[in-house]
Order: sequence, then C-alpha cells, then structure tokens
Amino acid sequence: PFEVLVVGGGPGGVAASIYTARKGFRTGIAAERFGGQLNDTLGIENLPGTEYTEGPKLTTNLEQQVKAQDAIDLMNLATAKTLVPASNPGGMHELHMENGAVLKARSLILSTGARWRALGVPGEQDYRNKGVAYCPHCDGPLFKGKRVAVIGGGNSGVEAAIDLAGIVGHVTLVEFDTALRADQVLQDKLRSMKNVDVLVNAQTTEITGDGNRVGGLVYKDRASGEEHDVELEGVFVQIGLVPNTEWLADSGLELSKHGEIVIDSKGASNLPGVFAAGDCTTVPYKQIVVAMGQGSAAALSAFDYLIRNEAA
Ligand code: FAD
Repeated sequence: PFEVLVVGGGPGGVAASIYTARKGFRTGIAAERFGGQLNDTLGIENLPGTEYTEGPKLTTNLEQQVKAQDAIDLMNLATAKTLVPASNPGGMHELHMENGAVLKARSLILSTGARWRALGVPGEQDYRNKGVAYCPHCDGPLFKGKRVAVIGGGNSGVEAAIDLAGIVGHVTLVEFDTALRADQVLQDKLRSMKNVDVLVNAQTTEITGDGNRVGGLVYKDRASGEEHDVELEGVFVQIGLVPNTEWLADSGLELSKHGEIVIDSKGASNLPGVFAAGDCTTVPYKQIVVAMGQGSAAALSAFDYLIRNEAA
C-alpha cells in the first residue's frame, strides 16, 4: 500500500506527488493518461517562469521530475473505476481500477481534471488548435485584432466574450436559446461593448475553413430556419467544462451540482483523508498554474492529515 495515492497525472496530480514525495511519503500516481490536458495543448505562455512551452514538452518535463523521485511510483494508463473510502480515520481507502487491481492508501489526492464539452458540429475537430479554441485566457491573445465567435451565452461564454472584446477586433456571441443565461450584470457589460454582436436563437451548424485555418461559421436562425455565414478567424466554444468525476458518483464524496469535487481552502473533501485539486474541483479558475498550486496545497494537507492520524 501507499501512504498517498494520487489519482490523475496532469499538472495538479504531478505537483501533489512531488510535494508528498519530498515529505518522505511513499506516493503512487495512477493516471489514465499522464500529462492530462497538456497533451492537447500547443503553446503555453502563461506559466510564470516559463516564457513559452508546449503541452507535450511540459508533460515530458513533469515526467522527468516525477521519475527523479524515488518515493513516487508512476502507474500510467491506469484508470480508477470506484473509490471505497476508509471506514475510520487513518484507515485505508481503496481504489478499484479498470484492470481489476485494487490500490490502497491512507490518503488520496484526486486530480482527475476535466474536459471541454464539444459542440459536435462538422469542422470542430478538424480545426481544433487551428482557430477552434476552448480557453480564452490561454488562446485569446493569439487572435489579437481578428474576428472571433464565442459559442454559448452562459456565464462562461459571456465572460469570454467580454474578455475577448478587449483583445480581438470583433466578437460575435452565438447562443442557441432564445435568451442569454449569464448574470444580468455581465449581459449589460457585454451589450455596452461596441465591437460585439449577440445572436440568440441561433444554432451553430458548421465551422468552415480552407483546410488549414478557420474561415467562418454557419448558423441556423431557429425562428426562420434560414442559414447564415459569418466570416471570422476564431471560434471559442464555451458550452461547459465537464469534470472527470462520474466514477465518484456513489463513493460518498460530495460533488457540486456541476459534478465538481467540493473542497475547502485546504483542498480537503468531505471524506477524512481524501483531498482534491485542479480542474475536477470547485476551484473557480481552471488553469495549469492554479492546478499546480492546488495540488501542492492538497499534498501539504495530506501530510498534515497523515501526521495527525495514526494508521488504523
Ligand atoms: P488534467 O490536466 O485534466 O489531468 C487530469 C488527469 O487525470 C489526467 O492524467 C487524466 O488521464 C487523469 N484521469 C482522469 N480520470 C481518471 C480516472 N478515472 N483514473 C485515473 N486517471 C484519471 N491552462 C493554462 O494555464 N494555460 C494554457 O495555455 C492552457 N491551454 C489549454 C489548451 C487546451 C486545448 C486545453 C484543453 C486546456 C488548456 N489549459 C491551459 C487548461 C489546463 O490544461 C488545465 O487547467 C490543467 O491541465 C488542469 O490540470 P489537472 O491536473 O487538474 O487536470
């Protein structure tokens, strides 16, 4: 058994494992895909201390750092299926894996990340990273002075549109429903911006381009049934970030209504000895540096828990 078992090998899980290993705890990392979302990320320009890197390169650096720690046992391509929490403080939590293995540890750090909900229209996958983007904080500056669309009129879509309107040339916000669902104060702010158009009752049906880059999108006016083309260089899809927590549904772990693991400011969940970090949690900003910071905090909380609770 491990003293600490980290579930997830993205920035959050890796940061956590480095911290617990340096406290001398035998630490396991079980990761479905080491690197997590970094594997799908091209340029990273907002990681302090690193002016520019790319997702796969950062993944390699993280792997080297993990492998240099004798106390860490990295299990890649290892997917957790169920969590059976310890019945008493200091007891062993069990992680049942897809391959039938059962891993045990006194403390768990869950960092299974999230995935962007995709629109599922033609062109979206073809132009991913070629004009189709999901993270305005990450990719907004790449569209400086250009025309972009934001798909989705909830809080994240409207926030993204406001954010982008300050950077890009023009923003078209496209909402499927008959009205935006974002908080009124955000809607008012958005409508006060001169370089923004808002389309409601509009169904995005295709993202078009020349084969290399996005050149536009097609939407259907749901009232008239007519299709329209919009010329633009970028499309930000903002229809939800889905946490990878489905496997925890029956574990007794408290999840928010969005499926995020509810944690306190120290990264503790409602279950003693179970901590969480990064995009799978209720922490509001989903970024690499945030996940890393959270992972370190969860690890220090796990340390605190282990020194206060004798093995049961
Ligand atoms: P993730 O990176 O999602 O890692 C989750 C880990 O858990 C993975 O190893 C996964 O395989 C594993 N896992 C999931 N379920 C299970 C399971 N059941 N059992 C075992 N393992 C499991 N952020 C920035 O700060 N700057 C950027 O420039 C930037 N660009 C981005 C570009 C793209 C295209 C995307 C998608 C995201 C971008 N982000 C960026 C966001 C950033 O990648 C995430 O905030 C960050 O990766 C979150 O780290 P995490 O460790 O919480 O989760």
